Amino acid sequence: MNQNKTILVLGAGIAGVTTAIGLKKLGFNVKIFYKPRPFIAYEGFSEKTKDGLISSSCLKASLLLKEQSMRNSNWASNSKNVNYEYVVCRANLDEALLKDAKDNSIELIESRVIGAVDCSEEKPKITYKIDEKKIEISADFVVDARGRFTPFKDEYLSGPKSFSLLQELEMDNLSQNRTSIDSTKDGWIWQAYVGNKKGYIQFTCDEELAVKINDFDELLKILKEQKAEFWSLQNAKPVDKIVKRDSFSKIHKEIINTKMILIGDSASSIDPLSGNGAFQAMSMSSIAPYVINTIINKSEIEQKVAIDFYKSRVQFIFDKFSKVGKEFYSLEKRYTSDFWQKRQNWPNEKTSDSKKLPRIEEKAVVTESYIFAQDVIITKDNPMGVWCYGKIEVVDLAKYCLGNKLEKSLEYFDEFCKKNSLSMGLYNSLKRWCIEQEILV
Ligand SMILES: Cc1cc2nc3c(=O)[nH]c(=O)nc-3n(C[C@H](O)[C@H](O)[C@H](O)COP(=O)(O)OP(=O)(O)OC[C@H]3O[C@@H](n4cnc5c(N)ncnc54)[C@H](O)[C@@H]3O)c2cc1C
Repeated sequence: MNQNKTILVLGAGIAGVTTAIGLKKLGFNVKIFYKPRPFIAYEGFSEKTKDGLISSSCLKASLLLKEQSMRNSNWASNSKNVNYEYVVCRANLDEALLKDAKDNSIELIESRVIGAVDCSEEKPKITYKIDEKKIEISADFVVDARGRFTPFKDEYLSGPKSFSLLQELEMDNLSQNRTSIDSTKDGWIWQAYVGNKKGYIQFTCDEELAVKINDFDELLKILKEQKAEFWSLQNAKPVDKIVKRDSFSKIHKEIINTKMILIGDSASSIDPLSGNGAFQAMSMSSIAPYVINTIINKSEIEQKVAIDFYKSRVQFIFDKFSKVGKEFYSLEKRYTSDFWQKRQNWPNEKTSDSKKLPRIEEKAVVTESYIFAQDVIITKDNPMGVWCYGKIEVVDLAKYCLGNKLEKSLEYFDEFCKKNSLSMGLYNSLKRWCIEQEILV
């Protein structure tokens, strides 16, 4: 059904490639336009990011998340925390993602996309450049996944202006890979040893301080004023120039219409302190193909459900991780500089859901191909609503339990499980969930 419909994906980072593969699986003709990342950066990824890559068929990329490094967290004067993370060079990840796209038969066009997506005509159009030649192309839909490089005409909402200074290092050999994170007077510092005498230091601070740092020596001067164990700088030499990246939280106002969608950092990006940027991008790309499929193939009413669903999901993810960032910053009580004060007070608390919980509400849900509206159960732990527990539809069960006394509800629950031939394990876990979510009370 979708073979004669073409979708252009701009950018081949995690968001672009995982969305492109999802669209290809729905039968669309997909072309990715990408340009290589112009700087070296290392990032730390969690187990759930690895799982996300595997479930998005990015198998070559997932293989780079092989061995975890031990991470010492010296945050808010607490230096006892140790955890683990996969440290990956983004250039290697980008290369593996391109191979994954190729393995999924996606056409790749190395080029620089210029300007914003043009939605003024019936079909969306982009302009890209190969060497000095400018080319225009229109398609049935455009996915903009150019990350923080996506150009915008619209307004966006943002948190305090943080910038990160990144420096790759040549350092002494260490017996094993390691990382550390330190909170300091004017920001926070992530250091990594990644093997083969290669190290990395990333200092995140306020825009006002970042403008004063333009090379390695200026970075060292500022770091001297910060109290931390700079183990990565012992006998270290800089490799290439220092890189400055904007790293503040932001969310754009127009992230979707009937012709284009923004995905990943392009739609909303979060403070890297949360360490969840890649996962956040995949939270969007896991639903975007169904949203696009609904926009392209369904009626206006259904398109609106899909668009509203995507907007609310992106907002929900943004709010969730912004709150996590604020909680982390608020743990630090030693420093009172502007850097800490601004981040401890952003974002403003949102009024929480004051309606009765649990309750039944009509909301958009994702099926194997489309988004559509249907009754879901909103509970304290599922504010976006659920309609299935695993593969079992539980809305009717919840409706009955919420409308009847416990004794009758328990009887109905047993009948329901019998009728659906649930194993004892599933029976117990569903019952536990219903009790925890106050459906069975
Ligand atoms: C300093 C810093 C540290 C971070 N650390 C972590 C971390 O430790 N863990 C974590 O999970 N997240 C981290 N993040 C966040 C993470 O980098 C992003 O959330 C994630 O990369 C988002 O993926 P994306 O695909 O949306 O964008 P990107 O990965 O930025 O991909 C965008 C792609 O579009 C391409 N592109 C851009 N412009 C054009 C153009 N004009 N034409 C064609 N192609 C173009 C780029 O080359 C790139 O391939 C960090 C972010 C920053 C700023």
